[in-house]
Amino acid sequence: MYSTAFLDLPPLQAAAGEVHLPGSKSISNRVLLLAALSSGTTTVHDLLASDDTRVMLDALRQIGCMVDETGGSTVRITGLGGRAPQSPAKIFLGNAGTAMRPLTAALALLGGEFELSGVPRMHERPIGDLVDALRQLGCRIDYLGNDGYPPLRIAHAQGVPALALSAPIRVRGDMSSQFLTALLMALPLAAGTQSIVIEVVGELISRPYIAITLQLLARFGIVVEHQNWQRFTIAAGSRYQSPGDIHVEADASSASYFIAIGAIAASAGGQKGIKIQGVGLDSIQGDIRFVEAARAMGAVVTGGPNWLQIERGAWPLQAIDLDCNHIPDAAMTLAVMALYAKGTTTLRNIASWRVKETDRIAAMATELRKLGATVEEGADFIRVTPPAQTTDWQAASIHTYDDHRVAMCFSLAAFNPAGLPVRIEDPKCVAKTFPDYFEALFSVAQAETARIPVICIDGPTASGKGTVAAAVAQRLGYRFLDSGAIYRITALAALRAGLAIDADHEARIATLAQTLPVRFEDGRVLLGGDDVTDTIRTEEAGMNASRVSALPTVRKALVNLQHSFRRLPGLVADGRDMGTVIFPDAPLKVYLTASAACRADRRYKQLISKGFSASIDDLRADLEARDAKDSSRSVAPLKPAQDALVLDNSTLTIDEVVEQVLAWWQELQPFAVTAQG
Ligand code: C5P
Repeated sequence: MYSTAFLDLPPLQAAAGEVHLPGSKSISNRVLLLAALSSGTTTVHDLLASDDTRVMLDALRQIGCMVDETGGSTVRITGLGGRAPQSPAKIFLGNAGTAMRPLTAALALLGGEFELSGVPRMHERPIGDLVDALRQLGCRIDYLGNDGYPPLRIAHAQGVPALALSAPIRVRGDMSSQFLTALLMALPLAAGTQSIVIEVVGELISRPYIAITLQLLARFGIVVEHQNWQRFTIAAGSRYQSPGDIHVEADASSASYFIAIGAIAASAGGQKGIKIQGVGLDSIQGDIRFVEAARAMGAVVTGGPNWLQIERGAWPLQAIDLDCNHIPDAAMTLAVMALYAKGTTTLRNIASWRVKETDRIAAMATELRKLGATVEEGADFIRVTPPAQTTDWQAASIHTYDDHRVAMCFSLAAFNPAGLPVRIEDPKCVAKTFPDYFEALFSVAQAETARIPVICIDGPTASGKGTVAAAVAQRLGYRFLDSGAIYRITALAALRAGLAIDADHEARIATLAQTLPVRFEDGRVLLGGDDVTDTIRTEEAGMNASRVSALPTVRKALVNLQHSFRRLPGLVADGRDMGTVIFPDAPLKVYLTASAACRADRRYKQLISKGFSASIDDLRADLEARDAKDSSRSVAPLKPAQDALVLDNSTLTIDEVVEQVLAWWQELQPFAVTAQG
């Protein structure tokens, strides 16, 4: 997951490959609650790991369910099965509407005293229609903040009051289908000898989500009949029973981004299109009908029971005019696809966007305009006309409003024909449903190598470049290449192979370097399967590296390995010749220096802190000798690249250097500095 302040996507050119999508949020949270209400233990497979399922799992534990999360994406829940929940409890539900609404209804019918709250945005998301329906039944629910919104208190400390179940329970269906879902999942708890009828007032929006609810209720033993989606009847004597095992489908809304990529991006490297695993054309999720909309715009989509394959068809895409009531979440993806269409796309019947994670109509309009589109918005529609010409596209820093879908769908703008990068602010907001979204994007998307940014940080031994480069990489979410480590590893590998490091063995060391079995994982360095992180950090290993690095054929043999680090979304490389030899086209080159005394002192402190013994004088002599060797060798001698920015950091802290490098980087970006706003 990218937890940086922003993530800059370089212009993307093509895409191909296969993605495995995380489990559906809607199915995951429904299944968790149903399992909690059931008798018996349910093993839930392929559960989505996200913010919204996290708060649900925590809540279930709080009310006394046994939750076993030791199985990775398989979670075992032992339900209440008629037991009373633990109470009183204060339950925090973040920004998870799929937890807040159904839990409110279920806890009201289970009895006990509960306070349910969330993040500030959750407290702006309506729940009044659900609470009205529950009060109508006889439940006692108080608002703790504003009327009609969480936080709220369920005041059933003395047990559930007698409920008025003989008349139909009426609930509005035109604000959020989650109110009806909440009642459908809670009321079976109250079904005794009589059946229970729910009537929807007003048109029911997001009907597909109700279909998911009914499908899943059936898996847990509850039969609900409905007449034209207006009147729902829960059979008398209904009782929740665990199905034992249940699999969560991959999220069809998440699939929409990759379906869109397949429709927008040219094929790459002989591979054709995008294959999506985990969800197929027979999905129970309503958003699967996004496929029809994507096809209407030009995508060629085929699929089977658990997979989809997408290729680019009509190009440019065709504009559409569509009622999106049946695919409210995935329709946001269409709004961004509209940027690649000929003509104006209108998405209608999307009033529910206004009460989601953010006001999505306003958010989409604002951000699409930043990219150069012409956008008209109304109470329940959005109309998007793409930039007239390639030159009308603008580089934009996309504000994401703590809304995962805004972040994900705007990543598609990186395929723009103008070759502009796109900045996604607060990329970690995707964690709500798809924590590894950007990793999945980068696994299929391709950029021209020259467009993948590289920041080079070169300099002499102990100048602080390694620490600075790692910190800069972390702040930008870029990959990190410690090229010194590669020479250190090569030297170690040569010695382990019994080769002395000298010109006589140059050819053999070079051969060995070409297929160096090295892996960098979570800050550890592995040679073969052996963790050599600490072994390569000694002074002796540094001197050996210096000797091996003076052998021209060995340097050449290591070029491809170093180039292979230049991958999306970008790279920070530190070494001696990053700017001069390995990445001469890098847009930013920094040459970091510090006085010999200062560097010896830093190295001394570093070694002592790691428990090595050292003498400052010896260290200084060593590093001056190493600098002399590195600067005087015939190949790739240590020197600043002509276009490098030289920074003497003898009197600066690491943080100051990092800020300076980031400031230089920002100056090169087409985004406004006030990007964070
Ligand atoms: O940076 P570090 O101390 O790990 O580098 C070890 C040695 O590897 C350096 O002294 C230098 O001789 C060599 N090196 C190099 N080119 C690089 C990085 C390191 O020659 N790009």
